[in-house]
Amino acid sequence: MRRKLAAGNWKMNGTGAALAELEALAAAHPAPAVDILICPPATLLHRAAQVAGDAIAVGGQDCHANASGAHTGDTSAEMLRDAGATAVILGHSERREDHDEGNDDVRAKARAAMEAGLIAVICVGESLEQREAANTLDIIAGQMSGSIPDQCTGENLVVAYEPIWAIGTGKVPTLEQIGEVHDFIRTRLERRFGEGVGRSVRLLYGGSVKPGNAAEIFGVPNVDGALVGGASLKADGFSPIITALESA
Ligand code: PEP
Repeated sequence: MRRKLAAGNWKMNGTGAALAELEALAAAHPAPAVDILICPPATLLHRAAQVAGDAIAVGGQDCHANASGAHTGDTSAEMLRDAGATAVILGHSERREDHDEGNDDVRAKARAAMEAGLIAVICVGESLEQREAANTLDIIAGQMSGSIPDQCTGENLVVAYEPIWAIGTGKVPTLEQIGEVHDFIRTRLERRFGEGVGRSVRLLYGGSVKPGNAAEIFGVPNVDGALVGGASLKADGFSPIITALESA
């Protein structure tokens, strides 16, 4: 039985004042029936971990593949862990694009994250051009084999399917399209890691999830939760998504 997960990605948004939203979220969900994860900017991580309390976990949005060293501006998995993180988002399409991250980079970072005791939330997803060219499943397959390291378990890996064209655009794939990709990801995980591990890894959908569409997305088989950007910034946007997941 996979425990569902509602994850929020604040991206490069928020200063100290934004912690009030996290505080409000924690107050609204003192004993959630699902896991809740908020990934604030690195500057807020330590304070967020203190505000979030026991019911909400906090995570990073990226980490370096090395544990320490001469890498100005970077943050290691161990540092995230030390600041209070229990998870880290890796291979988000914005990082793949803005920082030229390839599958090898993501895999090395995921290995480092797992070694530091973090859950790696590895993002995969196709562009609009790739979907229109009917290449979606090939792209997902390539990203999965390239980005997901070998030492995965249901405890240290979460896969987020995030079609790039749905992120921050208000466009959402059909439920059939989401279901097709999630079933495909599940089958590939089972084939590579065996049924036990393959069935225990949680699969999140991400891309313009809002209170108004969350329930129907959560009804799709093999959708174990969501990775939410814009709607996770405010407690009153994310809270109904959490409630919808609790009822799914
Ligand atoms: C994201 O960036 O991970 C995301 C899903 O963003 P949004 O919910 O805003 O589309």
